[in-house]
Amino acid sequence: MADNTHKTFRFVVVGGGIAGVTCVEQLSSQFPSEEIALITAAPHIKAVANFRQVSKTLEEFDIEEHPSSVLQEKLLNLTVIQSAVQSLHTDTHTLQTVDGRVVRYEKLCICSGARPKLLTRDNPHVLGIRDTDSAQELQKRLCKAKRIVVVGNGGIALELVFEVAGCEVVWAVKDQAIGNSFFDAGAAQFLVPSLGTDRPQRAGPWKRARYTVEEGEGTPSGAVHTFTADGAGRGPGAGSTDPGSALGPDWHRGISLRGAQEIPHGVSVEYQCEVEQIFSSPQELPGGQGPNPPSHRGQNTERVESWPVYIRLTNGKTIGCDFIVSATGVVPNTEPFLHGNHFALADDGGLRVDDHMRTSEPDVYAAGDVCTACWEHSRLWQQMRLWTQARQMGWHAGHCMAAHVLSEAIELDFCFELFSHITRFFNYKVVLLGKFNGQGLGPDHELLVRCTKGREYVKVVLSAGRMVGAVLMGETDLEETFENLILNQMDLTPYRDQLLNPNIDIEDYFD
Ligand code: FAD
Repeated sequence: MADNTHKTFRFVVVGGGIAGVTCVEQLSSQFPSEEIALITAAPHIKAVANFRQVSKTLEEFDIEEHPSSVLQEKLLNLTVIQSAVQSLHTDTHTLQTVDGRVVRYEKLCICSGARPKLLTRDNPHVLGIRDTDSAQELQKRLCKAKRIVVVGNGGIALELVFEVAGCEVVWAVKDQAIGNSFFDAGAAQFLVPSLGTDRPQRAGPWKRARYTVEEGEGTPSGAVHTFTADGAGRGPGAGSTDPGSALGPDWHRGISLRGAQEIPHGVSVEYQCEVEQIFSSPQELPGGQGPNPPSHRGQNTERVESWPVYIRLTNGKTIGCDFIVSATGVVPNTEPFLHGNHFALADDGGLRVDDHMRTSEPDVYAAGDVCTACWEHSRLWQQMRLWTQARQMGWHAGHCMAAHVLSEAIELDFCFELFSHITRFFNYKVVLLGKFNGQGLGPDHELLVRCTKGREYVKVVLSAGRMVGAVLMGETDLEETFENLILNQMDLTPYRDQLLNPNIDIEDYFD
């Protein structure tokens, strides 16, 4: 790799995740003869493949993971610098890397992602899931585990509790229903049967992610590739020093999430509780109280067994387990960039960006999980730290950086008009549109619901007779029609009673 000490680049992008790579691709296509640098901590990058525009705003794509050299071979004006950024000096437009290189930029885009919010960084039995290293560490521990506790109610927790087999899973959620970040109690109720032992078999294809595998020693066939540069396994969360790219859809594909027991899949949910305390041994438990059993087992006392870790919940229960998975959200990776600079930060810790993806520091942009969208949002869009938004923001940031260099006007991309996301939860296709959970609407909205147990769940959010959001689970085929109804804001009051009538072909109806 070339020595880039004190080298100046027209554009520098930090981060080899989806946001950074998309940004670099955009810049390289617009400025094929300008020098562009991608500085990234991990040796592999994530790239979008097989992009498919499903409808006006819904998109699907595969994710491929490659050595960074593949990107460098594809984009001839790109230099990849594999090292972590240690500091940023916006006054001199320079970055310093941990291996001592100084890189000067004219325009910089920070796409350093986010890391899991860990319940504690001091307990080795508390794991976070972020990158391939941490997913493999989870697998290693799980194959010896009899019971785990999963804390959190977002997408990662949802996928994890569904996929784990051969191990008791206690799932602690702070809300009244599961999956609160994605849907309401009605939708959660539709999914709950899937958590039992008779969960449905995987029907359709996996989600879109596909990892390009380079099998290493000890890597099972079809497994995701490990990032460890030195050949040694790195621990998750606190232990990892070089942050890898975030995993995404299908992060568990190819890794066996099997515990040590011959028991069917079974999850007990502890609702409306948070973590009060974590204990490392039974002796630490207050008053010598024994731990409570998971509720799904229906026992009153647990045989006194020594577990590596105990978790005390705010509902008064104490549960012993082999390890705890902390899936309580993410924290933007901003640290190396903050010292000595004057970045405006949002309440969630992200770098505040305007509609041109500019931070508060001159010539510094940001995209993906590290940033917080602080422009005045369309009333049907909200930021969620998702794969699709990382791609959209990376693309838009590259576009804006180019437009500013060329002194061209640029508008916010259409993809930020309407929130839309396709995913799979518990083997159901899930499409989320607009204010799918009535976000920010207050009491002034109405819900229409159609549910066929085990097959589909359809929810429409109406505000003043107009459709402003929808949740579609199962093969409903309604996404395009509903997207149009949301975008055109037609008054649906006269059709209200027919909208979810299963005997009416709604697509024809509004054609
Ligand atoms: P990242 O992918 O995290 O990339 C950050 C990059 O920055 C990495 O290359 C890293 O090495 C680099 N970096 C960090 N710090 C530095 C530094 N100091 N110097 C240099 N480089 C640095 N989203 C979905 O839409 N659907 C899902 O089903 C889904 N499932 C998920 C499951 C898991 C387990 C996880 C962890 C996330 C999931 N997500 C999902 C979220 C999605 O993966 C992220 O929103 C997306 O990957 C963010 O992309 P990014 O490019 O902003 O950041």
